[in-house]
Amino acid sequence: MTPTATTRIQAAEFRAAGTDLSERRRSGVSTGPLIDISATPDTIGMHWEADGRLRIGAFTTIAAIAADARLAAAYPGLAASALGLATPQIRHLATLGGNLAQRSRCWYYRNPHIGCLRKGGSDCPAREGNHLYHVAFDLGPCVAPHPSTMAAALLAYDARIATDRRSGLTIGDLLGDGANGAADNALEPGEMITSVELAAPLGGERALYRRAISRTHAEWPLVEVCARAVVRDGAFQFVRLAAGGIAPVPLRLVAAENTLQGKTASAVAIAVAAQQATAGAKPLPMTGYKLDLLRGVVQDLLERLAA
Ligand SMILES: Cc1cc2nc3c(=O)[nH]c(=O)nc-3n(C[C@H](O)[C@H](O)[C@H](O)COP(=O)(O)OP(=O)(O)OC[C@H]3O[C@@H](n4cnc5c(N)ncnc54)[C@H](O)[C@@H]3O)c2cc1C
Repeated sequence: MTPTATTRIQAAEFRAAGTDLSERRRSGVSTGPLIDISATPDTIGMHWEADGRLRIGAFTTIAAIAADARLAAAYPGLAASALGLATPQIRHLATLGGNLAQRSRCWYYRNPHIGCLRKGGSDCPAREGNHLYHVAFDLGPCVAPHPSTMAAALLAYDARIATDRRSGLTIGDLLGDGANGAADNALEPGEMITSVELAAPLGGERALYRRAISRTHAEWPLVEVCARAVVRDGAFQFVRLAAGGIAPVPLRLVAAENTLQGKTASAVAIAVAAQQATAGAKPLPMTGYKLDLLRGVVQDLLERLAA
Protein backbone atom coordinates (compact mmCIF):
# COMPACT_ATOMS: atom_id res chain seq x y z
CA MET A 1 0.00 0.00 0.00
CA THR A 2 1.39 3.43 -0.92
CA PRO A 3 1.88 6.06 1.81
CA THR A 4 -0.85 8.11 0.13
CA ALA A 5 -3.33 5.25 0.32
CA THR A 6 -2.41 4.59 3.95
CA THR A 7 -2.95 8.21 4.88
CA ARG A 8 -6.29 8.23 3.11
CA ILE A 9 -7.52 5.11 4.90
CA GLN A 10 -6.44 6.48 8.26
CA ALA A 11 -8.37 9.68 7.60
CA ALA A 12 -11.45 7.77 6.42
CA GLU A 13 -14.41 6.96 8.61
CA PHE A 14 -16.10 3.59 8.94
CA ARG A 15 -19.76 3.23 8.04
CA ALA A 16 -21.61 0.24 9.51
CA ALA A 17 -25.40 0.69 9.20
CA GLY A 18 -24.92 4.43 8.83
CA THR A 19 -27.83 5.42 11.07
CA ASP A 20 -25.65 7.89 12.98
CA LEU A 21 -23.15 8.67 10.27
CA SER A 22 -25.82 9.57 7.70
CA GLU A 23 -27.07 12.39 9.90
CA ARG A 24 -23.53 13.73 10.30
CA ARG A 25 -23.00 13.55 6.52
CA ARG A 26 -26.32 15.29 5.93
CA SER A 27 -25.52 18.09 8.34
CA GLY A 28 -22.01 18.50 6.94
CA VAL A 29 -20.15 17.50 10.10
CA SER A 30 -18.61 14.42 8.45
CA THR A 31 -17.15 15.17 5.04
CA GLY A 32 -14.15 12.87 4.58
CA PRO A 33 -13.86 9.55 2.74
CA LEU A 34 -15.86 6.56 4.00
CA ILE A 35 -15.10 2.87 4.28
CA ASP A 36 -18.16 0.63 4.30
CA ILE A 37 -17.64 -2.21 6.76
CA SER A 38 -19.69 -5.36 7.13
CA ALA A 39 -19.78 -8.58 9.08
CA THR A 40 -17.79 -11.76 8.78
CA PRO A 41 -19.21 -14.92 10.44
CA ASP A 42 -17.01 -14.18 13.45
CA THR A 43 -18.16 -10.58 13.92
CA ILE A 44 -21.91 -11.10 13.87
CA GLY A 45 -24.29 -12.97 16.14
CA MET A 46 -24.03 -14.61 19.55
CA HIS A 47 -21.16 -16.95 20.29
CA TRP A 48 -21.71 -18.84 23.55
CA GLU A 49 -18.76 -20.47 25.32
CA ALA A 50 -19.05 -23.69 27.33
CA ASP A 51 -18.47 -21.81 30.61
CA GLY A 52 -21.44 -19.51 29.98
CA ARG A 53 -19.54 -16.52 28.58
CA LEU A 54 -21.09 -14.73 25.62
CA ARG A 55 -19.25 -13.02 22.78
CA ILE A 56 -21.43 -10.74 20.66
CA GLY A 57 -20.14 -9.79 17.23
CA ALA A 58 -19.88 -6.03 16.75
CA PHE A 59 -22.00 -6.21 13.59
CA THR A 60 -24.93 -7.78 15.43
CA THR A 61 -27.91 -5.47 15.22
CA ILE A 62 -29.47 -3.89 18.27
CA ALA A 63 -32.77 -5.58 17.32
CA ALA A 64 -31.08 -9.00 17.32
CA ILE A 65 -29.65 -8.33 20.79
CA ALA A 66 -33.07 -7.24 22.02
CA ALA A 67 -34.79 -10.31 20.55
CA ASP A 68 -32.42 -13.11 21.58
CA ALA A 69 -34.17 -15.23 24.21
CA ARG A 70 -31.01 -16.87 25.60
CA LEU A 71 -29.31 -13.47 25.92
CA ALA A 72 -32.38 -12.01 27.62
CA ALA A 73 -32.41 -14.85 30.16
CA ALA A 74 -28.72 -14.43 30.99
CA TYR A 75 -28.36 -10.65 30.68
CA PRO A 76 -31.85 -9.13 31.03
CA GLY A 77 -30.48 -5.62 31.63
CA LEU A 78 -28.62 -5.69 28.33
CA ALA A 79 -31.64 -6.99 26.42
CA ALA A 80 -33.90 -4.36 27.98
CA SER A 81 -31.40 -1.60 27.18
CA ALA A 82 -31.31 -2.70 23.54
CA LEU A 83 -35.11 -2.82 23.39
CA GLY A 84 -35.38 0.60 25.00
CA LEU A 85 -33.22 2.62 22.61
CA ALA A 86 -34.17 4.56 19.47
CA THR A 87 -36.95 3.19 17.24
CA PRO A 88 -37.75 -0.25 15.77
CA GLN A 89 -36.45 0.95 12.41
CA ILE A 90 -33.14 2.16 13.86
CA ARG A 91 -32.72 -0.95 16.01
CA HIS A 92 -33.32 -3.14 12.96
CA LEU A 93 -30.29 -1.61 11.20
CA ALA A 94 -27.99 -0.23 13.89
CA THR A 95 -25.01 -2.33 14.89
CA LEU A 96 -23.50 -2.83 18.33
CA GLY A 97 -20.13 -1.46 17.17
CA GLY A 98 -21.78 1.59 15.63
CA ASN A 99 -23.76 2.17 18.80
CA LEU A 100 -20.62 2.19 20.93
CA ALA A 101 -18.74 4.42 18.48
CA GLN A 102 -21.61 6.79 17.66
CA ARG A 103 -20.72 10.45 17.99
CA SER A 104 -21.98 13.16 20.32
CA ARG A 105 -25.58 14.27 19.93
CA CYS A 106 -24.79 17.78 21.14
CA TRP A 107 -26.66 20.31 18.99
CA TYR A 108 -23.55 22.52 18.83
CA TYR A 109 -21.39 19.63 17.67
CA ARG A 110 -23.99 18.68 15.03
CA ASN A 111 -24.16 22.26 13.71
CA PRO A 112 -21.52 22.68 10.99
CA HIS A 113 -21.46 26.45 11.51
CA ILE A 114 -20.44 26.28 15.17
CA GLY A 115 -17.01 25.24 16.36
CA CYS A 116 -16.52 23.04 19.42
CA LEU A 117 -13.89 20.91 21.16
CA ARG A 118 -15.09 17.74 19.42
CA LYS A 119 -14.39 19.42 16.07
CA GLY A 120 -10.94 20.76 16.96
CA GLY A 121 -12.18 24.04 18.43
CA SER A 122 -10.87 25.64 21.60
CA ASP A 123 -13.99 25.68 23.76
CA CYS A 124 -17.37 24.08 24.43
CA PRO A 125 -20.20 26.42 23.39
CA ALA A 126 -22.75 24.35 25.29
CA ARG A 127 -21.10 25.19 28.60
CA GLU A 128 -22.19 28.84 28.39
CA GLY A 129 -25.05 28.16 25.98
CA ASN A 130 -28.11 25.91 25.94
CA HIS A 131 -27.15 22.73 27.77
CA LEU A 132 -30.59 21.58 28.91
CA TYR A 133 -29.93 17.94 27.86
CA HIS A 134 -26.29 17.88 28.84
CA VAL A 135 -24.28 16.51 31.77
CA ALA A 136 -25.10 16.65 35.46
CA PHE A 137 -21.66 15.24 36.32
CA ASP A 138 -19.34 17.86 34.83
CA LEU A 139 -16.20 15.76 34.44
CA GLY A 140 -14.43 17.33 31.49
CA PRO A 141 -14.20 20.23 29.11
CA CYS A 142 -17.03 18.96 26.82
CA VAL A 143 -20.41 18.91 28.56
CA ALA A 144 -22.30 16.61 26.17
CA PRO A 145 -23.40 13.28 27.67
CA HIS A 146 -22.16 10.14 25.97
CA PRO A 147 -25.00 8.95 23.72
CA SER A 148 -24.53 5.16 23.85
CA THR A 149 -27.17 3.24 25.77
CA MET A 150 -25.35 -0.02 25.07
CA ALA A 151 -22.17 1.37 26.61
CA ALA A 152 -23.96 2.06 29.89
CA ALA A 153 -25.46 -1.43 29.92
CA LEU A 154 -22.13 -3.04 29.07
CA LEU A 155 -20.51 -1.07 31.88
CA ALA A 156 -23.02 -2.63 34.27
CA TYR A 157 -21.96 -6.06 32.98
CA ASP A 158 -18.18 -5.41 33.10
CA ALA A 159 -18.02 -6.28 29.42
CA ARG A 160 -14.75 -6.50 27.51
CA ILE A 161 -14.41 -5.09 24.02
CA ALA A 162 -12.19 -6.42 21.26
CA THR A 163 -11.02 -4.50 18.22
CA ASP A 164 -8.99 -5.59 15.23
CA ARG A 165 -5.92 -4.41 17.20
CA ARG A 166 -6.64 -4.91 20.90
CA SER A 167 -8.68 -7.09 23.22
CA GLY A 168 -9.89 -7.01 26.82
CA LEU A 169 -10.83 -3.32 26.72
CA THR A 170 -13.22 -2.13 29.40
CA ILE A 171 -15.86 0.47 28.60
CA GLY A 172 -13.54 2.90 30.42
CA ASP A 173 -10.66 1.94 28.12
CA LEU A 174 -12.87 2.40 25.08
CA LEU A 175 -14.54 5.67 26.02
CA GLY A 176 -12.06 7.25 28.42
CA ASP A 177 -13.00 9.16 31.57
CA GLY A 178 -14.43 12.30 29.99
CA ALA A 179 -11.24 14.34 30.37
CA ASN A 180 -10.56 14.39 26.63
CA GLY A 181 -12.97 16.93 25.20
CA ALA A 182 -11.69 16.30 21.69
CA ALA A 183 -12.96 12.73 21.22
CA ASP A 184 -16.01 10.56 21.85
CA ASN A 185 -13.85 7.46 22.32
CA ALA A 186 -10.27 6.28 22.56
CA LEU A 187 -10.23 4.26 19.33
CA GLU A 188 -7.16 4.85 17.19
CA PRO A 189 -7.65 6.04 13.62
CA GLY A 190 -8.80 3.06 11.55
CA GLU A 191 -9.35 0.79 14.58
CA MET A 192 -12.48 -1.33 14.29
CA ILE A 193 -14.56 -2.78 17.12
CA THR A 194 -15.03 -6.48 16.38
CA SER A 195 -16.80 -7.98 19.39
CA VAL A 196 -17.98 -7.60 22.98
CA GLU A 197 -17.60 -10.29 25.62
CA LEU A 198 -19.66 -10.77 28.78
CA ALA A 199 -18.80 -13.05 31.69
CA ALA A 200 -21.34 -15.70 32.70
CA PRO A 201 -24.08 -14.18 34.86
CA LEU A 202 -23.86 -14.51 38.64
CA GLY A 203 -26.01 -17.13 40.34
CA GLY A 204 -29.41 -15.68 41.20
CA GLU A 205 -28.81 -12.29 39.66
CA ARG A 206 -31.60 -10.13 38.32
CA ALA A 207 -31.25 -7.02 36.18
CA LEU A 208 -33.43 -4.20 34.89
CA TYR A 209 -33.12 -1.10 32.73
CA ARG A 210 -35.06 2.13 32.94
CA ARG A 211 -34.81 5.51 31.26
CA ALA A 212 -36.31 8.96 31.80
CA ILE A 213 -37.01 10.58 28.48
CA SER A 214 -38.42 13.88 27.29
CA ARG A 215 -40.92 12.21 24.95
CA THR A 216 -42.30 8.71 24.80
CA HIS A 217 -39.92 7.27 22.19
CA ALA A 218 -37.37 8.04 19.46
CA GLU A 219 -35.18 10.16 21.67
CA TRP A 220 -31.98 9.77 23.64
CA PRO A 221 -32.70 9.53 27.36
CA LEU A 222 -32.27 12.35 29.84
CA VAL A 223 -31.14 9.71 32.32
CA GLU A 224 -30.84 5.93 31.96
CA VAL A 225 -29.74 3.23 34.37
CA CYS A 226 -28.96 -0.45 34.00
CA ALA A 227 -29.09 -2.17 37.39
CA ARG A 228 -28.04 -5.69 38.43
CA ALA A 229 -28.49 -7.24 41.83
CA VAL A 230 -28.30 -10.50 43.72
CA VAL A 231 -30.68 -10.41 46.68
CA ARG A 232 -30.33 -13.45 48.93
CA ASP A 233 -31.87 -14.05 52.37
CA GLY A 234 -33.38 -10.57 52.18
CA ALA A 235 -30.03 -8.81 51.71
CA PHE A 236 -28.18 -7.29 48.75
CA GLN A 237 -25.25 -9.65 48.05
CA PHE A 238 -24.28 -7.81 44.87
CA VAL A 239 -25.37 -4.48 43.38
CA ARG A 240 -24.24 -2.88 40.17
CA LEU A 241 -25.62 0.41 38.86
CA ALA A 242 -24.46 2.03 35.62
CA ALA A 243 -25.96 5.26 34.32
CA GLY A 244 -25.99 7.07 30.99
CA GLY A 245 -27.16 10.51 29.91
CA ILE A 246 -25.55 12.23 32.86
CA ALA A 247 -21.81 12.48 32.10
CA PRO A 248 -19.39 12.53 29.16
CA VAL A 249 -19.00 8.78 29.69
CA PRO A 250 -21.33 6.18 31.26
CA LEU A 251 -20.84 6.14 35.03
CA ARG A 252 -20.92 3.49 37.72
CA LEU A 253 -22.88 4.82 40.73
CA VAL A 254 -20.35 3.45 43.17
CA ALA A 255 -21.48 5.31 46.29
CA ALA A 256 -25.01 3.94 45.89
CA GLU A 257 -23.69 0.43 45.21
CA ASN A 258 -21.48 0.53 48.31
CA THR A 259 -24.34 1.78 50.47
CA LEU A 260 -26.34 -1.38 49.74
CA GLN A 261 -23.63 -4.02 49.67
CA GLY A 262 -24.53 -6.65 52.30
CA LYS A 263 -27.46 -4.59 53.60
CA THR A 264 -31.00 -5.74 54.19
CA ALA A 265 -33.11 -4.95 51.15
CA SER A 266 -35.41 -2.58 53.03
CA ALA A 267 -37.24 0.49 51.78
CA VAL A 268 -35.08 2.67 54.03
CA ALA A 269 -31.79 1.23 52.74
CA ILE A 270 -32.97 1.65 49.14
CA ALA A 271 -34.02 5.25 49.76
CA VAL A 272 -30.60 6.03 51.24
CA ALA A 273 -28.87 4.41 48.26
CA ALA A 274 -31.01 6.40 45.82
CA GLN A 275 -29.82 9.61 47.49
CA GLN A 276 -26.23 8.38 47.11
CA ALA A 277 -26.76 7.93 43.35
CA THR A 278 -25.91 11.58 42.83
CA ALA A 279 -22.74 11.59 44.96
CA GLY A 280 -20.08 13.53 43.10
CA ALA A 281 -22.55 15.26 40.78
CA LYS A 282 -21.66 18.68 39.42
CA PRO A 283 -24.72 19.87 37.51
CA LEU A 284 -24.65 22.73 35.04
CA PRO A 285 -27.05 25.66 35.54
CA MET A 286 -29.74 23.92 33.43
CA THR A 287 -29.19 20.26 34.38
CA GLY A 288 -29.94 20.07 38.10
CA TYR A 289 -33.26 18.41 37.22
CA LYS A 290 -31.33 15.33 36.08
CA LEU A 291 -30.32 14.62 39.67
CA ASP A 292 -33.94 14.21 40.74
CA LEU A 293 -34.53 11.95 37.74
CA LEU A 294 -31.47 9.87 38.54
CA ARG A 295 -32.47 9.38 42.18
CA GLY A 296 -35.99 8.44 41.10
CA VAL A 297 -34.88 5.95 38.46
CA VAL A 298 -32.38 4.30 40.82
CA GLN A 299 -34.95 4.02 43.61
CA ASP A 300 -37.51 2.51 41.27
CA LEU A 301 -35.05 -0.05 39.90
CA LEU A 302 -33.77 -1.08 43.32
CA GLU A 303 -37.30 -1.48 44.71
CA ARG A 304 -38.19 -3.74 41.78
CA LEU A 305 -35.01 -5.77 42.11
CA ALA A 306 -35.64 -6.27 45.83
CA ALA A 307 -39.31 -7.19 45.42
C1 LIG B 1 -34.40 8.92 16.73
C2 LIG B 1 -33.18 8.23 17.24
C3 LIG B 1 -33.10 7.90 18.59
C4 LIG B 1 -31.96 7.29 19.09
N1 LIG B 1 -31.90 6.96 20.42
C5 LIG B 1 -30.78 6.33 20.90
C6 LIG B 1 -30.69 5.97 22.27
O1 LIG B 1 -31.58 6.19 23.07
N2 LIG B 1 -29.54 5.35 22.69
C7 LIG B 1 -28.53 5.05 21.84
O2 LIG B 1 -27.54 4.47 22.24
N3 LIG B 1 -28.59 5.41 20.54
C8 LIG B 1 -29.68 6.02 20.05
N4 LIG B 1 -29.75 6.35 18.74
C9 LIG B 1 -28.55 6.18 17.91
C10 LIG B 1 -28.44 4.82 17.26
O3 LIG B 1 -28.39 3.83 18.25
C11 LIG B 1 -27.14 4.85 16.45
O4 LIG B 1 -27.37 5.66 15.33
C12 LIG B 1 -26.69 3.47 16.00
O5 LIG B 1 -26.48 2.61 17.10
C13 LIG B 1 -25.39 3.56 15.21
O6 LIG B 1 -25.09 2.30 14.67
P1 LIG B 1 -24.70 2.16 13.14
O7 LIG B 1 -24.35 0.75 12.91
O8 LIG B 1 -25.76 2.76 12.26
O9 LIG B 1 -23.39 3.10 13.11
P2 LIG B 1 -22.88 4.08 11.95
O10 LIG B 1 -23.80 5.23 11.81
O11 LIG B 1 -22.53 3.30 10.74
O12 LIG B 1 -21.53 4.55 12.64
C14 LIG B 1 -21.56 5.40 13.76
C15 LIG B 1 -20.11 5.76 14.11
O13 LIG B 1 -19.45 4.62 14.59
C16 LIG B 1 -18.32 4.30 13.80
N5 LIG B 1 -18.32 2.83 13.69
C17 LIG B 1 -19.34 2.06 13.25
N6 LIG B 1 -19.03 0.77 13.42
C18 LIG B 1 -17.80 0.73 13.96
C19 LIG B 1 -16.94 -0.33 14.38
N7 LIG B 1 -17.30 -1.63 14.26
N8 LIG B 1 -15.73 -0.02 14.90
C20 LIG B 1 -15.36 1.28 15.04
N9 LIG B 1 -16.13 2.32 14.68
C21 LIG B 1 -17.34 2.04 14.14
C22 LIG B 1 -18.53 5.03 12.48
O14 LIG B 1 -17.29 5.37 11.87
C23 LIG B 1 -19.31 6.24 12.92
O15 LIG B 1 -18.44 7.26 13.36
C24 LIG B 1 -30.88 6.97 18.21
C25 LIG B 1 -30.98 7.30 16.86
C26 LIG B 1 -32.11 7.92 16.39
C27 LIG B 1 -32.15 8.25 14.92
